[in-house]
Amino acid sequence: MACDFSALSKLDPGDPEQASQLLEQCTAALSDPKLWIWTLVFTVVCAVVGAMIGRYKNAVARDTILGAALGPVGWIISLCLPAHKPKPRCRACGREVEAGDAHCRHCGAKLNPIR
Ligand SMILES: [Zn+2]
Repeated sequence: MACDFSALSKLDPGDPEQASQLLEQCTAALSDPKLWIWTLVFTVVCAVVGAMIGRYKNAVARDTILGAALGPVGWIISLCLPAHKPKPRCRACGREVEAGDAHCRHCGAKLNPIR
């Protein structure tokens, strides 16, 4: 009996030994190192693809985590999320300022209103 849904549907409800054997087989399948190696490879590939999307969207850390955690679903979410825009910088001191500010919060220099 293989460890899949068809084996589950063929299970005799009056034979607890059969259910116990199926459970043992499925538990043994989880300890197979090949399964874990492929899971690890798949996770790394998904993270790398997510990082590539993140590079395009200017949000590498966000999209790498989404790709590693959710796989192809994370890629779709990454593609749907808006691109991360860097905050504007003050020309006088070079520090980040908010987009609508009239003056720099750090040095007080007047900011160009269109930024
Ligand atoms: Zn400044």
